[in-house]
Amino acid sequence: MKVKRIAHLGIAVKDLEPPKKLYTEGLGLKLAGEEVVEAQKVKVSFIQVGESNLELLLPTQPDSAVGKFLETKGEGFHHLALEVEDIHAAVAELKAMGVRLIDEKPREGAHGALVAFIHPKATFGLLVELCQYPH
Ligand code: ZN
Repeated sequence: MKVKRIAHLGIAVKDLEPPKKLYTEGLGLKLAGEEVVEAQKVKVSFIQVGESNLELLLPTQPDSAVGKFLETKGEGFHHLALEVEDIHAAVAELKAMGVRLIDEKPREGAHGALVAFIHPKATFGLLVELCQYPH
């Protein structure tokens, strides 16, 4: 598989406005977009950092994955997203290697991307998202 870059770092938050203000006004970074991802029950704000982004994640429902994360662990670092050239091939390769996945099939993520999460048990405690953006 070919990993192209760190696409973003996902950060779970209870309110989007204070961290947006910190990163834009405080650190001088640019707000690169905002959207609701229905499939994952989150509202996301992207803060651009060079070739990568911070992805601020606000759950739209408490029973979502991010909602449960906030409840048990509180705010903070949630996942690392790596952009791959071909997500179907990447998932197939990992499956063939016996790597435990959360998503056996890529699904829809923010920015029209296809995403698949690798289980943190397989990645030494780090939740890793693979994503492929439409060209
Ligand atoms: Zn993400």
